[in-house]
Amino acid sequence: MTIAETIHHIGETITIFGWVDTKRDHGKISFIDLRDRTAKVQVVLIPASLDEQSQKNVSEIRPEWVIKLTGLVKARPERLINPDLITGTVEIEATSIEILNQATTPVFPLDQDKNEISEELRLQYRYLDLRRSAMYRNLVNRHKVNHFIRNFLNQKEFLEIETPILTKSTPEGARDFVVPSRHENGSFYALPQSPQQYKQLLMAGGVERYFQIARCFRDEDTRKDRQPEFTQLDMEMSFVEQEDIMQLNEQLLIDLVTQLYPEKRIQTIPFPRISYSEAMEKYGNDRPDIRENPEDPDVLAFCWIVDFPQFEKTEEGNWTFSHNPFSAPKPEYIDDLIAKSNIETIISTQYDIVLNGFEIGGGSIRTHNPEALRATLSILGYSDELIEDSFGHMLTALASGTPPHGGIAWGLDRLLTVLQNESSIREVIAFPKTGDGRDPMMQSPSQIHLDQLLELGLSVLKKPSA
Ligand code: ASP
Repeated sequence: MTIAETIHHIGETITIFGWVDTKRDHGKISFIDLRDRTAKVQVVLIPASLDEQSQKNVSEIRPEWVIKLTGLVKARPERLINPDLITGTVEIEATSIEILNQATTPVFPLDQDKNEISEELRLQYRYLDLRRSAMYRNLVNRHKVNHFIRNFLNQKEFLEIETPILTKSTPEGARDFVVPSRHENGSFYALPQSPQQYKQLLMAGGVERYFQIARCFRDEDTRKDRQPEFTQLDMEMSFVEQEDIMQLNEQLLIDLVTQLYPEKRIQTIPFPRISYSEAMEKYGNDRPDIRENPEDPDVLAFCWIVDFPQFEKTEEGNWTFSHNPFSAPKPEYIDDLIAKSNIETIISTQYDIVLNGFEIGGGSIRTHNPEALRATLSILGYSDELIEDSFGHMLTALASGTPPHGGIAWGLDRLLTVLQNESSIREVIAFPKTGDGRDPMMQSPSQIHLDQLLELGLSVLKKPSA
């Protein structure tokens, strides 16, 4: 039985398991709060009700010890009801206590506000940190959001498909994490910055509707809302236009909020659509916070940003893609793209979804015509050789009868951070890394053994110290 269920068993003897949250001795009688994942309950320990071994155990137990407890569930008198506790209407009078495991004194008090404890320490002892109800609640709601998304997309006939983690460097604009190959010394896999090419290849494979709750890896400097590995809700559809993908995603977000976060209010439905140029002019950025009152934590102001330029100029004066090289231009610009003319005026089918000033997703209709992708890559300044080497498989696939397709990816960690009213994505990830990409609990990254280096054909050059 869970601790939350005890309130339905007044007058019965029950057995519960959990952690000693607090212990208070009042002369002969002691009290503990026993905690499991569902709730805390007050337990009264009266020596006369306990067998001899249990009496001894009571004298020994301390916070965070793990126990099995049998006792009688008693209704609390009216004046002693604690409205702040789920189990505030009852208390348990223990008849037996068994110690399942002892615990060292926690390195930080679990009832202390998490913001007052150093994050390094919280991450080093993440398993202790996760025992707090607020952290558990984040995990529960993350699970519920994943579950909701899976159900919704399953009903719309999407297939959930896993794509490789050991893959090839993709041109998404960030630095890759690489994995050395043992079979081919000197060659490297790259961890995916997103499943972009695989999901497009699934469309070439006739899948039509794909999604994945996918781990993505980008070797960037970590910031408040970035992690070296993060999770996307990634999807792709065939035979669709920009409008179809936007509407499906808008409905998914509305249903998700309405059912899982009924206390929240979506500021405007349908979500406002703002062109890139209007956003830049009015807000000075392309992820505007359009909340009427940014103080209100329960308002969700979603908006779409559309009509991005297809290409941007780099500082060196070359063209670069504004999102990814596979985005198609709007149909009226396709001729310009293939002719490589009026490049600066080409508008993309890219759409971003923004929530309270955070970009929580983005996607586009893709180029399914090999000629148009070749033109894009050539505008970006890629040589024919580089195009063949890096994108040959994509061009061949597009030429094999690939349907028109498009998709989107949400940054799930960021979305959850906003929904859970948290200040950092690290609060909604079970085992995040520190700001500089370390895991203080596992102590990674770490050096590897010389034998491993030799097997991989690697030697390590120490960077000269600054
Ligand atoms: N792969 C893109 C990204 O990670 C999203 C998309 O266009 O579907 O940003």
